[in-house]
Amino acid sequence: MPDEMLQRLQRFHDHTFPGVQETFETLVKDGQHPTILFIGCSDSRLVPYLLTGTGPGELFLVRNVGAFVPPHDMSAGFHGTAAAIEFAVLNLKVTRIVVCGHSHCGGIRALYEGAPPQATNLIAWLELGHEAVLPVQLSPEALRRTEQRAVVLQLERLMGYPMVRERVEAGAMTLHGWHYVIEDGEVHVFDVRSGGFVAASLAEHSGTGPYLLYDDGDG
Ligand SMILES: [Zn+2]
Repeated sequence: MPDEMLQRLQRFHDHTFPGVQETFETLVKDGQHPTILFIGCSDSRLVPYLLTGTGPGELFLVRNVGAFVPPHDMSAGFHGTAAAIEFAVLNLKVTRIVVCGHSHCGGIRALYEGAPPQATNLIAWLELGHEAVLPVQLSPEALRRTEQRAVVLQLERLMGYPMVRERVEAGAMTLHGWHYVIEDGEVHVFDVRSGGFVAASLAEHSGTGPYLLYDDGDG
């Protein structure tokens, strides 16, 4: 039986890479200078490069179940997401942080339905979305509202990172809360003025964090 994964690797090297080789050579020579830290859910239907129209070198990506941000003061140790935030802000000096949740999120659904008891790490991780849960029965509408509330919750938690807060308050960094609706191919952006999410097709900016005045934003 042919090894399909191997075939894909060979196809990339032989056919795809030659078309982008120069781009990657430049990125190696000059180093990476992404301006965006993108924290997204691991869901396979969320494809950050597609929906932002970005390519190699443009997004510093962190993905996890639910697009959650652990608290800064509780996360010292083996914490991939917290380490990536610190690296992106302090080393790469990104100027935007996007937190991107999405529709039909299994992580957010698990906040209502629970996780397998042997998934001890997952159960602990889901605590990071707990405050977004609504005191109602799960419905498509409740799921969507919870997904959006979870995004805002993570933006607030990002402000607990001293290096993030400092830059946001100095106007050197913007936080963007997004909720991607898979079946519509549309991102809804958080607007701090209305406290809600606006479809990108109707929005005047690419989203504001909970602490940044809209007029100060550059997006
Ligand atoms: Zn998800």
